[in-house]
Amino acid sequence: NEFVKEEFSRGALRTKTVEDILTPVRDCFMLNSDVVLDFNTMSEIMQSGYTRIPVYTEDKSNIVDILHMKDLTMVDPEDCTPLSTITKFYNHPLHFVFNDTKLDAMLEEFKKGKSHLAIVQKVNNEGEGDPFYEVLGLVTLEDVIQEIIKSE
Ligand code: ATP
Ligand code: ATP
Repeated sequence: NEFVKEEFSRGALRTKTVEDILTPVRDCFMLNSDVVLDFNTMSEIMQSGYTRIPVYTEDKSNIVDILHMKDLTMVDPEDCTPLSTITKFYNHPLHFVFNDTKLDAMLEEFKKGKSHLAIVQKVNNEGEGDPFYEVLGLVTLEDVIQEIIKSE
């Protein structure tokens, strides 16, 4: 019945974490901040089909910006504009969450915030060195909604 269904889906949202549903970093389409928006790069972005694309420097655990597909509307590939020019201009907010964030809390964040994508981080204190932030992947509002639909 409806009540049981609702309780079940609430339960899943309360107990599952973003780590359970994220898109792992190896499957994420991201861009290096030093690329130039020439024909090849722009084609690659279009072909990825993603609306929001994390931008990193040096390695994929170091995400510094987010590019929206629509930021490219006025970009002419002939100009070979550096990606950093565009990301600096739009300067979209970047949203980080920890891997143990519960889905109900994540949903609230998405409802509050303007961004519908968050980068999932974890504190890595395995090994000898100092603990560091490791990027596990990304989660979007769509992923949370899928989880709600699944549990119905
Ligand atoms: P929109 O639906 O707003 O156009 P989208 O299709 O790019 O955006 P979402 O609908 O938010 O993306 O998410 C669909 C799936 O794609 C989710 O599983 C999400 O984790 C994943 N995803 C979103 N952006 C990326 C990306 N840049 N690289 C890899 N996977 C992504
Ligand atoms: P995104 O968040 O993926 O960048 P967006 O901000 O253009 O996309 P949505 O987040 O899908 O749009 O929708 C935000 C709100 O704006 C919704 O209420 C939606 O109905 C409304 N909206 C979207 N596109 C239009 C449009 N062309 N004209 C008027 N309202 C729109």
